Amino acid sequence: MIEYLLFDVDNTLYPASCGLAKVIGERMTDFVTEYLELPREEAHRLRKKGSARYGTTLDWLRNEHAFEDIDTYMETVHPPEVGSYIPENPRLREMLTELDRPRSVLTNGPRPHAQRVLRHLEIDDVFEYIFDVGFTGYRGKPYAATYRKVLDTLGIQAENTLLIDDHPLYLTGFRDLGGQVLLVDEPGTAGESADGMPVIRTIDELPDFLHEAGIVPA
Ligand SMILES: [Mg+2]
Repeated sequence: MIEYLLFDVDNTLYPASCGLAKVIGERMTDFVTEYLELPREEAHRLRKKGSARYGTTLDWLRNEHAFEDIDTYMETVHPPEVGSYIPENPRLREMLTELDRPRSVLTNGPRPHAQRVLRHLEIDDVFEYIFDVGFTGYRGKPYAATYRKVLDTLGIQAENTLLIDDHPLYLTGFRDLGGQVLLVDEPGTAGESADGMPVIRTIDELPDFLHEAGIVPA
């Protein structure tokens, strides 16, 4: 039985196709280009490889390039305004509250960015906590310590908790701890990396998934 819902933010609570993630990715590549003093294409290639290995660009920079100025990074790569990218979703608020399960956000982004997104979607008051990447010393997902600290803080068990995320690697990490997972794969490109996980295309399909799985009564 699912007793608690943990939501990723970016590309999970809004569609990946809206372009915001692409903008953030571009800004990350710009940042790496400058920091490592490389041609942009080379920076892009290295960043892709590094973030696939570590889970995030930040963690790759910290582990392999002795990067430390996390605040500057976070401020630089997240645009100050998100409303021109993210489409409104007037049904989202009601959908989330009608699920009748306590819920929090677990994001690898910084709190100000998560708050901007939640405010734009008018759902900033429907979550108990925003666990941002700073909550666990900027390691975040998919580190086991991150999931454990969140579960301990909430006083819940992984077995009774559903993590909803667009990143297969983050879900795998949570599933390894015994947690339940749901992949949001709007582009439908997860393929083998979905590794047998249940999949929905957009967050709007969440109620149907939960009802069909018998997790929340219809
Ligand atoms: Mg995401």
